[in-house]
Amino acid sequence: MTAPGFVPGADGSTPPAPADLALPVAGRKLRTRDDGGLLRIADLPADTAWVPLGTLDGRPAWATEVPSAEDRPGRWRSWAGIAAELPEPLATLAGRALAVVTWRRTHRWCGACRAELADVPGESARRCPDCDLYVPMQLSAAVLVAITRPGPAGRPDELLLVRHAYGPTGLWALVAGFVDAGETLEAAVRREVGEEVGLTVDGLRYFGSQPWAMSGPGTLLVGFTARSVDAAAGPVVDGKELSEARFFPLDALPAELPPAYSISRWLIDATAPV
Ligand SMILES: [Zn+2]
Repeated sequence: MTAPGFVPGADGSTPPAPADLALPVAGRKLRTRDDGGLLRIADLPADTAWVPLGTLDGRPAWATEVPSAEDRPGRWRSWAGIAAELPEPLATLAGRALAVVTWRRTHRWCGACRAELADVPGESARRCPDCDLYVPMQLSAAVLVAITRPGPAGRPDELLLVRHAYGPTGLWALVAGFVDAGETLEAAVRREVGEEVGLTVDGLRYFGSQPWAMSGPGTLLVGFTARSVDAAAGPVVDGKELSEARFFPLDALPAELPPAYSISRWLIDATAPV
């Protein structure tokens, strides 16, 4: 019996078969067929070096790094382009391909003794043959939170949305930030909310998570909902990360919301059902 969906893995004990899935990566771009589907191992030269990614509906998937997207056939697309066009779990598989290839390129040498690291069979990890340093593929956790407060009498609740000072500045997004070492996810939410908009929240509830390959390899987004403790308190932006923050009635949210494939949007949609 084969597992449905995408199951991440690092089993390279059996060599790739011609019909296995192939995901060539160049920089932050990934190559697909002209019709948008995934390539097969047989579509690439026989001497290609493959790295295992796991299985998609039981079929093994492999990544390889190519030096440049120029002069190569097929369509080269960003992770966001794939996530926007192809159904899950293809975006998750593509994100893992980008993460694995980028991690291997940037973790070639031992950070302690400078020897060349060796792959640990069956794991997304490398080990130093000289000093035995173990180097697992790292994951950064980032939290995001949908904060609501009661609206005026007879009106729906309100949702806090923010605009960033950099990146897609026209978008109304959620308060978000990376988790620091020694911090729980919940503490990271409270700290980010305090730093970015000067509010205090309670009723923190876990919503869900999404592997995210846009803001760098190996990021896991963790979504929460929360209530603003003081319903009368307005957000105060820090002026550095954020340019604007505002509570919107749930029946009058702005049109410029995060894309449909993002957990930000899933959180917003779940907070404000249409
Ligand atoms: Zn070493």
